[in-house]
Order: sequence, then structure tokens, then C-alpha cells
Amino acid sequence: MPHRYTGLVEAYRNRLPISAEARAISLGEGNTPLIELDNLVRDVGFGGRILVKYEGLNPTGSFKDRGMTVAVTQAVDEGARAVICASTGNTSAAAAAYAARAGITALVVVPDGKIAAGKLAQAVMHGAVIVQIEGNFDAGMRLVKEVGETSPVTIVNSINPYRLQGQKTAAFEIVDALGAAPDYHCLPVGNAGNITAHWIGYTEAIGQGTPACAFCAGDCRAPHPAMTDRRPVMLGFQASGSAPFMRGGPVADPDTVATAIRIGDPQSWEPAHVVQKESGGWFDELSDEEILDTQAKLAEREGVFCEPASAASLAGALRDIKRGKIADGSTVVCTLTGHGLKDPEIAMRGALDHIVKVPAERGAIADLLAKKMA
Ligand SMILES: *Cc1c(COP(=O)(O)O)cnc(C)c1O
Repeated sequence: MPHRYTGLVEAYRNRLPISAEARAISLGEGNTPLIELDNLVRDVGFGGRILVKYEGLNPTGSFKDRGMTVAVTQAVDEGARAVICASTGNTSAAAAAYAARAGITALVVVPDGKIAAGKLAQAVMHGAVIVQIEGNFDAGMRLVKEVGETSPVTIVNSINPYRLQGQKTAAFEIVDALGAAPDYHCLPVGNAGNITAHWIGYTEAIGQGTPACAFCAGDCRAPHPAMTDRRPVMLGFQASGSAPFMRGGPVADPDTVATAIRIGDPQSWEPAHVVQKESGGWFDELSDEEILDTQAKLAEREGVFCEPASAASLAGALRDIKRGKIADGSTVVCTLTGHGLKDPEIAMRGALDHIVKVPAERGAIADLLAKKMA
């Protein structure tokens, strides 16, 4: 039987708060690979398993597509003609693409500077109205909330509960792939929508509800059959210059090379604390240097290229394994939230050191090869 995968809404419609008749606005998102890190596990001498959920392979190159397909499907079903978001880049790329697909307007509010080139290119190509403000993501978010209250436009940031409903499906896919929930699940944290969404997904996978879910608020009256009997410990990693969960409150001037998590005033502050408490997990922070080192190590040792923010999950996992906070023998899943090609400038910073100039002669290449293989 031929089978064409047609995206999350069709795959999980019975687990999503979307009407049976709503036309799915989809680009075939989801169903991303869960890649086992054999080389790195051997390098660090870990007796367990580390797998990365490579969300960079979604249609616009980040997990935001999971949330956007459901948010835009619902918005169009309700008659919306326009969507709006504040964004450090990936939300605007996804909003622009799904709005284009639906034939509606996307208005994206981006901070001045510090938006990765690939992400901005996407918003341009998909025909979004791009508004650059004098201010950072948090200022943009405040502005978008004000506009949403007075104008006929649907906000598609993660404060839109349909976003988290879409993103929870990553947990279903992981449980399906492993046959059970992992022991630990590590994510980079910006607004903390995604860590909250994963917890909603894992909780539904054991047939329950959680107060972190805006739809059931912990009182899920129509639980689905359990897919697994346990939930992971949830670990959330921030960049040191942008770590409100470590400081205990908003950070006024967040700064990090990991621009996707350069957020000082997280929108899912309370739900994320529910996740931490219910799962027995923790938050921690990493320096930009640790994040970039891990991004490079993952690319060189495993052939997997993620953007800087994504590497925070793996960097945190490797450090907690080394410190013994993650028990040896555990199964650890790290979400790689976005593709490395999103941010070519970061990748190219050290590029000149990697390029060897030689005359166009066979001997020069043969010498190089011999040196490399020695
Ligand atoms: C949006 C984003 C994050 C942060 O996710 P939150 O839900 O805001 O915590 C992390 N990494 C990438 C690549 C993102 O695009």
C-alpha cells in the first residue's frame, strides 16, 4: 500500500484539539529522526544511550513547525486572515511558511540585529511582513500581545496553546521509537514553551493530564490509551547570559550567541516550573563557549549539524553525565531544536582555519591526504 506521510495534524488528529473537519495546513512536519550518538557515547565512556531528536529536519528547519501547523490550522478554521508573532527567528520562519501555505498574511516582529541570516531569509522568501523594532525579543513580545488585543490577528507565539499541542507530538514520536519514555529528556530553554509541550506529551502518553496543559489543566477527562508507563526527568538548559530560570526572575539584557534562546522574560515561566517539579528535573546554564564546543563536536564526531541554541541540550547532558547527575546506564534524549544552516555566520567564523590553499596539482592533494591519514 502506498503511504504518503502528510504531517502532524493528520497523524495525531485524535490526540489534538482540532475539529475533525478542519483543513490541515501542513508541510509534512514531524516524523523527524531520533539519532543514536554512538561515537560521542564512546568518547565520554558513558554506559547508557544518548539519542538526539533532530528537529532541524522539519520543513522550515526547526521544531516551531510542529506548533505552527496546529496553530495555523486552528486559526484558519476559526476564520483568521492574518497571524502575528514576535520572534528571535525560527518562529517567524515557520509562521511565514505556514501562512503562505494557508494563503493568509504573516506579520513578524523581529529584534534589531542578532537574527540569524538563514531565518530572516526564510521570512523574506515566504512573503511575510517583516517589522524590525528597536528592542529585543521581550519588547517585541509585549508589543505583539498589545496588538493581539485590539486587532483582528491571531498570535502564533507559544502563548497560543495550540502551539504547545502541536509540539507535544515530539514526545509521542520518541515513545513510539523507543517503545517507552527515555530516562532523561534535555532541551534548550528560551520561552520554555517546548519543554512544557514535551511534558504535556509525555503525560498524555501515560494516559494522564498535567497542570502545565492549558487545555486540561491537569484534569484530563478524556485520557487516551497509555503508550508507556513512565515519564522522563526533564532537564532545561539556558545560556549563561540569558538564564532567567537560574536567576529566579526576568533578565533585562539577555545576551548569547545562541540567539534562539536569547530571551529574558520567558512566557511559560509557571508551566516550566510545574514541569521541573512533576518530573524531578532541573534547570542549568552553559557558557557560550561550552555551547559552541558541543555544536562543533556533534558536527565533527556524528555528522549532525544543529544551530547553537540546540547544542545547549547536548552540552548540558554531557556535563551532567560527567558529573554523575545523570545516572550511568540511562537512556538520554536531547532535542536538537534547529538546523545548523540557520546560522551560517556562526559556523563560518573559524572557517578560514579549515581551508587549505594549494596549487591545482595532483601531487599537492596527494601530500595533503598522506599527511591527514598518517
Ligand atoms: C524557539 C527555539 C528554542 C527555544 O524554545 P522555547 O520553547 O522558547 O523554550 C530553542 N532552540 C531553537 C532553535 C528555537 O528555535
